[in-house]
Amino acid sequence: MMSSWKRTEVRRGREYLVQPVSAASAQKEYVCPGCGGAVLPGVAHVLFWRPDGVLGDEADLASRRHWHNHCGSIA
Ligand SMILES: [Zn+2]
Repeated sequence: MMSSWKRTEVRRGREYLVQPVSAASAQKEYVCPGCGGAVLPGVAHVLFWRPDGVLGDEADLASRRHWHNHCGSIA
Protein backbone atom coordinates (compact mmCIF):
# COMPACT_ATOMS: atom_id res chain seq x y z
CA MET A 1 0.00 0.00 0.00
CA MET A 2 1.25 3.46 -0.78
CA SER A 3 0.36 4.76 2.68
CA SER A 4 2.08 1.97 4.54
CA TRP A 5 4.63 4.42 5.96
CA LYS A 6 1.90 5.90 8.10
CA ARG A 7 -0.53 3.96 10.23
CA THR A 8 -3.26 4.49 12.76
CA GLU A 9 -3.23 3.06 16.25
CA VAL A 10 -5.73 3.34 19.07
CA ARG A 11 -4.59 4.01 22.60
CA ARG A 12 -7.05 4.38 25.46
CA GLY A 13 -9.87 4.75 22.99
CA ARG A 14 -8.18 7.58 21.11
CA GLU A 15 -6.91 7.36 17.60
CA TYR A 16 -3.34 8.36 16.82
CA LEU A 17 -1.42 8.60 13.59
CA VAL A 18 1.98 6.97 13.75
CA GLN A 19 4.70 7.82 11.26
CA PRO A 20 8.15 6.26 11.33
CA VAL A 21 11.04 8.70 10.88
CA SER A 22 14.13 7.24 9.26
CA ALA A 23 17.62 7.90 10.56
CA ALA A 24 18.35 9.98 7.46
CA SER A 25 15.28 12.14 8.07
CA ALA A 26 15.99 12.73 11.77
CA GLN A 27 17.93 15.99 11.64
CA LYS A 28 16.96 17.66 14.89
CA GLU A 29 17.03 16.75 18.55
CA TYR A 30 13.71 16.14 20.28
CA VAL A 31 12.57 15.20 23.76
CA CYS A 32 10.83 11.86 23.95
CA PRO A 33 7.60 12.11 26.00
CA GLY A 34 7.91 8.47 26.93
CA CYS A 35 11.19 8.57 28.86
CA GLY A 36 12.06 12.27 28.92
CA GLY A 37 15.34 11.55 27.16
CA ALA A 38 16.71 13.09 23.99
CA VAL A 39 15.93 11.70 20.56
CA LEU A 40 19.21 12.49 18.87
CA PRO A 41 19.70 13.48 15.22
CA GLY A 42 20.39 10.48 13.02
CA VAL A 43 18.35 8.13 15.19
CA ALA A 44 15.29 6.51 13.63
CA HIS A 45 12.16 7.10 15.72
CA VAL A 46 8.40 7.48 15.43
CA LEU A 47 5.99 10.41 15.32
CA PHE A 48 2.67 10.27 17.16
CA TRP A 49 -0.11 12.75 16.76
CA ARG A 50 -3.86 13.12 16.99
CA PRO A 51 -5.58 13.52 13.62
CA ASP A 52 -8.83 14.92 15.03
CA GLY A 53 -7.78 18.13 16.75
CA VAL A 54 -10.47 20.80 16.86
CA LEU A 55 -7.94 23.45 15.83
CA GLY A 56 -7.35 21.89 12.44
CA ASP A 57 -4.61 20.13 10.56
CA GLU A 58 -1.98 22.76 11.26
CA ALA A 59 -2.41 22.44 15.03
CA ASP A 60 -2.43 18.68 14.67
CA LEU A 61 0.94 18.77 12.97
CA ALA A 62 2.30 21.16 15.59
CA SER A 63 1.26 18.75 18.31
CA ARG A 64 3.23 15.87 16.90
CA ARG A 65 5.56 14.19 19.34
CA HIS A 66 8.79 12.38 18.62
CA TRP A 67 9.20 9.09 20.46
CA HIS A 68 12.00 6.56 20.58
CA ASN A 69 11.01 3.42 18.75
CA HIS A 70 11.16 1.46 21.99
CA CYS A 71 9.13 4.08 23.89
CA GLY A 72 6.50 4.66 21.24
CA SER A 73 5.38 1.10 20.76
CA ILE A 74 1.78 0.77 21.84
CA ALA A 75 0.98 -2.23 23.95
ZN1 LIG B 1 12.08 7.54 24.94
